Amino acid sequence: MKQYTPMIQQYLQIKADYPDAFLFFRLGDFYEMFFDDAIKASRELEITLTSRDGGAEEKVPMCGVPYHSAQTYIERLIEKGYKVAICEQMEDPKQAKGVVKREVIQLITPGTMIEGKGIRDKENNFLATMTPFPDGTIGFAYADLSTGESKVTLFDSAEDCFNEISTIRAKEIVLSEDFPEDWEKRLKDFGVQTISREEDTSPSPSFEKILRPVSGEKLQRTLCRLLHYIFRTQKRNLEHLQPAEFYQIRQYMKIDHFSKRNLELTETVRTKDKKGSLLWFLDETMTAMGGRLLKQWIDRPLLSKKEIERRHQMVGALKDAYLEREELRESLKKVYDIERLSGKISFGNANARDLLQLKQTLREIPAIKEILLRIPDEAVHGLAETLDSCPEIAELIEKAIRDDPPLSVKEGNIIRDGYNETLDKYRSAMRDGKTWIARLEKEEREKTGIKSLKVGYNRVFGYYIEVTKANLHLIDDRYIRKQTLANAERFITPELKEMESLILEAEEKSVELEYELFIGIRDRVKKEIPRLQKLAKRISEIDCLQCFASVSDKNRFVRPIFSDDRRLEIKEGRHPVVEKVMERATYVPNDCYMDENREILLITGPNMSGKSTYMRQIALTAIMAQIGCFVPASRAVLPIFDQVFTRIGASDDLVHGQSTFMVEMLEAQYAIAHATKDSLILFDEIGRGTSTYDGMALAQAIIEYVHHKIGAKTLFSTHYHELTVLEERLPKLKNVHVAAVEQNGSVVFLHKIREGASDESYGIHVAKLAKLPDELIERAEEILRSLEGKEERTEGEETGAEKRKGGPASPAAAYAHDPGGPEDGEGADGFQLSFFGEEEMPKNSLTLKEKKVLQQLRSLNVLEMTPMDAMNALYELQKRLKK
Ligand code: ADP
Ligand code: MG
Repeated sequence: MKQYTPMIQQYLQIKADYPDAFLFFRLGDFYEMFFDDAIKASRELEITLTSRDGGAEEKVPMCGVPYHSAQTYIERLIEKGYKVAICEQMEDPKQAKGVVKREVIQLITPGTMIEGKGIRDKENNFLATMTPFPDGTIGFAYADLSTGESKVTLFDSAEDCFNEISTIRAKEIVLSEDFPEDWEKRLKDFGVQTISREEDTSPSPSFEKILRPVSGEKLQRTLCRLLHYIFRTQKRNLEHLQPAEFYQIRQYMKIDHFSKRNLELTETVRTKDKKGSLLWFLDETMTAMGGRLLKQWIDRPLLSKKEIERRHQMVGALKDAYLEREELRESLKKVYDIERLSGKISFGNANARDLLQLKQTLREIPAIKEILLRIPDEAVHGLAETLDSCPEIAELIEKAIRDDPPLSVKEGNIIRDGYNETLDKYRSAMRDGKTWIARLEKEEREKTGIKSLKVGYNRVFGYYIEVTKANLHLIDDRYIRKQTLANAERFITPELKEMESLILEAEEKSVELEYELFIGIRDRVKKEIPRLQKLAKRISEIDCLQCFASVSDKNRFVRPIFSDDRRLEIKEGRHPVVEKVMERATYVPNDCYMDENREILLITGPNMSGKSTYMRQIALTAIMAQIGCFVPASRAVLPIFDQVFTRIGASDDLVHGQSTFMVEMLEAQYAIAHATKDSLILFDEIGRGTSTYDGMALAQAIIEYVHHKIGAKTLFSTHYHELTVLEERLPKLKNVHVAAVEQNGSVVFLHKIREGASDESYGIHVAKLAKLPDELIERAEEILRSLEGKEERTEGEETGAEKRKGGPASPAAAYAHDPGGPEDGEGADGFQLSFFGEEEMPKNSLTLKEKKVLQQLRSLNVLEMTPMDAMNALYELQKRLKK
């Protein structure tokens, strides 16, 4: 048996420590991958798979990427949720005895990426961890390595934790080996791509600063797991990690995962894009930091009236100060991402251009401060006063770094003249040397009389004197021949070589010294990172406030007033996003009034009339108010809502059929279990995902439950017109409807909300608008008339026999009598089937499919099933019947 070569053995040894990562193994100018890594990488990255003799019988599969373009390949793998371990040569291969020493210097993972394509300016990249404790609580922490922020909290339920994971969009999560398997599976549903492991939860001295504000063993251990993972993978001193922040979801309005999605707060349901979301609408921030904070604010509306009103106060002041605000925006435009610059400095990735960006930013701060101080508002002044422009840092960079440094930090041309004496000496030696050489050229021309004589330089031969072939007879015998070209010869002289070595030495030394000086400057800035981070926080806050002011000004928003008696009163409210995307057409504003005696509004109205839009505009108004923005209305009095729930009937096209009735019911269950009387619930056509009677019954039961047991402010839209009678029985429920008028036989939606129930279903008119054939429309009208006839009779007495046979008023019967309709049999039966309850069907008419379903139902061992399994099985059976 042949053995692997020592290098392949080294590879395998290192790879054993990183089984779940691609090992980028540095070999000269390439990162190579071997074995399975190579096969997988060649497929994922579309690079050629080759093989290499590794000493054993079979060749070793191999592929590689050049080290200077490795970054893009790494990013592509990370984007797909993989990890990449960077293994470098730790000694100069020329000096190495035996195999070059190699070590993994960093493990790059989706949650620890700090730059590159996947990292967007206005988005955080969070790495999260969750730790369940025996008492049922769950520790949760997350950090953004690029900005250095980290947060930690404790949840009472896994559900809350999952919601949070989806809110912060963590792509990677760090878990212990014994993390519950079923939870791990669910993480994928909440957008987690990558699972990583870390067992160590012990505190370490290097975490001291980060852990300082966090007390309690559970929180500390949760955070330590995350930190151990970060330090183990990044293998460096992470100066910029800020003291962790403890928070509680109780401090914020709770909006669960479903509701966030349905309300399209930060991305749209359809495209998952920011465009079309509330975040997109509101984003008038001028800096990347402000953009990230804005998203955090939208994710966490406040509950404290004092804090909300502090924001409103400042937004109002900035809104009124149009000129100052415009100046402020101009200034903010010149502000770079200090948070991420700090991260780069700490990581050791920052170059001279990054430091210049930092300087430029710091130089802008006094102007920002001055503008804010001109705005007559104490809170704004307070914020301005806390701005620390870190003048020493700006001066240091100003004094040291040239205005046009190169990208590389190892090639010189970074440090200004006058910053360092030794460097100046080297530079003058270089300059003097070069003048000497220029003079030499002149002197040699005179001495030899060769006018075309040139002194030149190349990397291989250094300085030389070049003489064309025609003039060779004129040269001095001091000249030593070095190189022959097609029509010239190149020479050196001893004194030229002497000067050359002086120049090159000075050059080499100066480049080295420049690098050292640069690192020194960067390290000094590194010490000030906490100050820079504090500044970054203030700037982001100012940016968000000016953003709210600008948006509110542009769109004629008003400052909301908070009521203490749970009253909600919106005059001329609008849905900001719908209004913005509606081209030319004008949005119809609507009022809304709710109080202790009007807790539930039952909204009826034709399809496409604006029910969903109306409900959402109220939820968005409440959320905008609680993040500190003004709201789209001419007047708004609002309670402070503790939670917002949005539920959409399964077949509503907003969800694009992705949803099923099961999901609809689960979502409704969640809302009902968690809502309080201080919550806002939107139920949009709940009960639509099942058959008519089922759905209607469920809808009514839900309304009654909310009315009697919860008392939350509830907007319930429905196409079940029958539900409007509830107004008579439920004192706190009121009917409203979206008005529509009939013009020339077709329906015109006014998008106007009016009191009372709508009196007609306009479905057929909508069908007419959609240009279905006239014949079909007439037929539908006929069926409708006969159905309405039936309903009137149902109100009175209907005999069972009539029902069973599908009396003359049933649509099926109407079909059967129609000469153009299908013959008795399949078609008519099919219709009947869905129209009547099953028990009313004569036994012998069971189809084969139904018999099978019954058989399955009989064979279920219900006592052995979890409620969830039972629900699922029931759902499956029902689905098969409906097919
Ligand atoms: P519904 O839920 O009643 O079926 P939607 O709320 O989905 O109706 O609204 C349908 C369309 O009507 C919207 O996409 C929008 O273009 C328009 N619309 C809704 N409300 C208004 C309004 N207040 N003013 C103008 N157009 C509106
Ligand atoms: Mg709707």
